[in-house]
Amino acid sequence: MRDETRAIVAGRRPQDNHGVVNPPVYHASTILSPSYAALKASRHVRSGDGVTYGVHGTPGSFAFEEAVAALEGGSITGCRTRLCQSGLTAVTAPLLCYLATGDHMLMVDSVYGPTRAFCDGMLRRLGIETEYYDPLIGGDIARLIRPNTRVVYTESPGSWTFEIQDIPAIIDAVRAAETGRGKIWTMIDNTWASPLYFKPFDFGLDVSIQAATKYIAGHSDLVLGTVTATPEAYPLLQKGWREMGLCAGPDDVYLAMRGLRTIAARLPRHMQTGLTLARWLQSRAEVADVLHPGLPLDPSHALWKRDFLGASGLFGFVLKPEFSNDAQLSALLDHLELYGMGYSWGGFESLLIPVNPPALRTATRWPRSGRPAGQVMRLHAGLEAAEDLIADLEAGFARMRKATG
Ligand SMILES: *Cc1c(COP(=O)(O)O)cnc(C)c1O
Repeated sequence: MRDETRAIVAGRRPQDNHGVVNPPVYHASTILSPSYAALKASRHVRSGDGVTYGVHGTPGSFAFEEAVAALEGGSITGCRTRLCQSGLTAVTAPLLCYLATGDHMLMVDSVYGPTRAFCDGMLRRLGIETEYYDPLIGGDIARLIRPNTRVVYTESPGSWTFEIQDIPAIIDAVRAAETGRGKIWTMIDNTWASPLYFKPFDFGLDVSIQAATKYIAGHSDLVLGTVTATPEAYPLLQKGWREMGLCAGPDDVYLAMRGLRTIAARLPRHMQTGLTLARWLQSRAEVADVLHPGLPLDPSHALWKRDFLGASGLFGFVLKPEFSNDAQLSALLDHLELYGMGYSWGGFESLLIPVNPPALRTATRWPRSGRPAGQVMRLHAGLEAAEDLIADLEAGFARMRKATG
């Protein structure tokens, strides 16, 4: 079955609910048992496997977990998904599930900023060491693996800078290092690609994270996280989930399921508009560099083409230094009609914000030597017409040229 179809049918059992197409919203804490025998039996139901208590899941959340696992799991059967209340929790909770005091973790240097803050704050306080590595490290990661390395964390492409990691080379190095010393859990923050455009488990990763807030929800109206794990990785995840009491609100889960049903219709459009805008930006005199792995001249293009099934609508570009002062940025940003200035992304609407990648680097320099410097911008291509988005940017660039410092 293809993903377009799977996104429509996965997790759907209308005949369980009077034929209603979408699983209803169950507002539930207490679940009543019909008999003492059933109450006794429910004690042995593993959370995630049956309706026993609101925290542990309802038919609505189980249906959504099943759908995400089917889409993100790809060709690997038996992957399972758990939900939590934000994308950031979907990052932090599995780290707590797989790491213990005294462990060492390898973390990509281009990681989402709040993930770095969690490693440098909470994990350090718990005695877990995080070592940042170059997103372009590939198989050389082997020389960073220590006897106490327990997690290798990836995010591809990198937040703000959009380098694609060589996941197959990293997985090969990790699996070789495991011989004789036990499991190293490999994780990916797969939010950029969504469950459609990168299949983590086909590449041998153990755990995949989605900020469902972004493309799965797709409408800028909820925050939600999903963590999907292989059959081997799931028991530790599930144990931690139960211990921490993680869960997600039923209304948000309902909306996320609605979003998921149309994701395969939305993503190709985000991709096409993103590529159209990226190519247009490449042709502009105000722009020094465009950071989009889907562009043939991008340094990450070959890896993207080899491993990804598409590109989402989020990418970056670098303004020339002579167009990077605050007055010029205000002139550009303050009067845009279609682009919002705000965090998050993956909704139906376009966004544009300045970002500062060097502030989040500790193991590598950015920009890399030989690459242009200047103000970095992050653009989310929404579902508007590309022509209108280009016209809005063109007018913004004209205002920017008139502004002086
Ligand atoms: C937004 C985002 C998150 C966090 O998601 P929230 O729902 O905002 O907490 C995690 N990882 C990446 C790559 C993101 O872009």
